[in-house]
Amino acid sequence: TQRYPDFIWHNGEIKRWQDATVHVMAHGLHYGSSVFEGIRSYDTNHGPKIFRLSDHNRRLFASAKIYEMPIPYTVDQLNQACRDVLAANKMGQGYLRPIAYRDLGGFGLSADCPTSVAVACWDMGRYLGADVIDRGIDACVSSWQRFAPNTIPAGAKAGGNYLSGQLVAREARRLGFGEGIALASTGLLSEGAGENLFLVFEGALHTPPVSAALLNGITRNTIITLARSVGIDVVERDIPREYLYLCDELFMCGTAAEITPIRSVDGRDVGTGKPGPVTRKIQEMFFGLFNGTTPDTHGWLE
Ligand code: PMP
Repeated sequence: TQRYPDFIWHNGEIKRWQDATVHVMAHGLHYGSSVFEGIRSYDTNHGPKIFRLSDHNRRLFASAKIYEMPIPYTVDQLNQACRDVLAANKMGQGYLRPIAYRDLGGFGLSADCPTSVAVACWDMGRYLGADVIDRGIDACVSSWQRFAPNTIPAGAKAGGNYLSGQLVAREARRLGFGEGIALASTGLLSEGAGENLFLVFEGALHTPPVSAALLNGITRNTIITLARSVGIDVVERDIPREYLYLCDELFMCGTAAEITPIRSVDGRDVGTGKPGPVTRKIQEMFFGLFNGTTPDTHGWLE
């Protein structure tokens, strides 16, 4: 069973976990009207650092802008709330979850409800399983597609989007796979239930473009930046499903999943069926940010 931390930040105050409640008639609960973030804090060789904290909280405001949801704080205030909730729980490394939601204040779809904001943190460990970073997972292509453009904006990280993610993830687990991969409404490759995708062909990284109904992931951006800095080519392009079976290497990435190799898709081995050298190199550079072997030239460790 899940163990919970002691404290949470809610509407400007640090409260006991059990006191941070919401009314059952809150708008966000009924209509999916929330926007949120997932952020990791790492114990680094320079002490605890929150990875790309400001970029995550800026994306929270971007998601809220799309839905015309005013957030009664600044990015700096939410950055501070993230630090405060970790400190309150005496945590160095952990997963942070800022969320803004339309609270109680009206029942119509367009009701101008007040926005409430919370920041929780908890100990997450490896999201897709204890040793998957090393061994990789077996994935499947989902029978569920991602939402079409001009229906639900994939560029917002909003609560309602995760109905799609739940269908994809639950189907995959039910069938015995580590994670599900969704196609866009075009039939082209989109992303995992909660992760972006990279394929490796002849030493270069290929990843679907944001037009493929995916979240413009901060880990995705980190990988693109790190790869280019060491001369690995990165191509954002439309990718048909069958290239999942034909690529040399394949991995998923996200704040929760970090960099998780995929060793098979739909029962077909990816490459040799083991994480390959480019995946290993990207993992080494990514985790190197936290153990000090990769210099933090972008000020990502906050
Ligand atoms: N896609 C989806 C649907 C996600 O939920 C996430 C996790 N936030 C990602 C991609 C990866 O994004 P990030 O690297 O910013 O965590």
